[in-house]
Amino acid sequence: MSMNDFAVLSTGRKMPLVGLGTWKSEPGQVKQAVIWALQSGYRHIDCAPIYGNEPEIGEAFQEMMGPEKGIRREDVFVTSKLWNTKHHPDDVEPCSPKNLSYIVVVLNLNEFNSAVECKREQRNSSVASIKPTVLQVESHPYLAQVELLAHCRDRSLVMTAYSPLGSPDRAWKHPEEPVLLEEPAIAALAKKYNKTPAQIIIRWQTQRGVVTIPKSITESRIKENIQVFDFTLEPEEMNQVTAVHRGWRYIVPTITVDGKSVPRDAAHPHYPFNDPY
Ligand code: NAP
Repeated sequence: MSMNDFAVLSTGRKMPLVGLGTWKSEPGQVKQAVIWALQSGYRHIDCAPIYGNEPEIGEAFQEMMGPEKGIRREDVFVTSKLWNTKHHPDDVEPCSPKNLSYIVVVLNLNEFNSAVECKREQRNSSVASIKPTVLQVESHPYLAQVELLAHCRDRSLVMTAYSPLGSPDRAWKHPEEPVLLEEPAIAALAKKYNKTPAQIIIRWQTQRGVVTIPKSITESRIKENIQVFDFTLEPEEMNQVTAVHRGWRYIVPTITVDGKSVPRDAAHPHYPFNDPY
């Protein structure tokens, strides 16, 4: 079984630095992926009701966790997230990951914090005392988020990097976009350490204290992505990976309007979201 390391949240709770992403992991695939992950040493699974696969993830948990099954449910950090249309207090509970059957932690992500604040204003409940502990954002070597990470550290927030491998299976992938997993500087380090580019990227994030949640439904890759705690990048090599930053955001969903593919969020006042934070 692989070792994992932890980020410590401001609540004192430990959050494993490598978790399994589950967006785009279809029902029929995701249960097996979660089982492989738990067998490989993962103790952190990233979910969301919007991914449409939480019930099956819950089945994997029920199969793998519990007395005499080797994994205690309190040892597994489960993240779930509310979609932006589910911030009203009345929408929070139905969306909360009880659908997962075995839920341990609801992580306070940016969306969920909005829900918490909403509850506070409307109900003046004790929920107001809940402070954010984690910020989940897109981050990888092409979007290093250096300023945002410093900002999070100053506020005792742990940063989770989503789409850490550049989300090569996203639906709006364009052939002209840079391919993170083919970046030469990362390939050179992979060669030096006899690791894969994915492992170098995940190692770089964990070494700077950032949690990563690479998604995979492939057994060999699930195992590979957590095998990052048996080598250390030199400080200069950490800088080399950070230096490939090019402010590139992969998660810019597109929609079709009048037959043309356009950014879904183009009308948002902060689009294209290039402020450091
Ligand atoms: P990702 O993890 O960057 O990339 C996933 C893709 O990389 C899949 O096609 C996977 O293929 C492939 N892959 C995995 N390991 C690999 C390896 N070792 N070598 C080569 N290819 C590999 O993309 P993501 O799914 O966009 O992001 C990860 C997770 O972050 C999501 O699943 C989700 O849980 C979370 N997320 C959150 C938000 C948010 O708004 N909060 C947004 C996006 C993502 P196979 O599956 O075929 O193996």
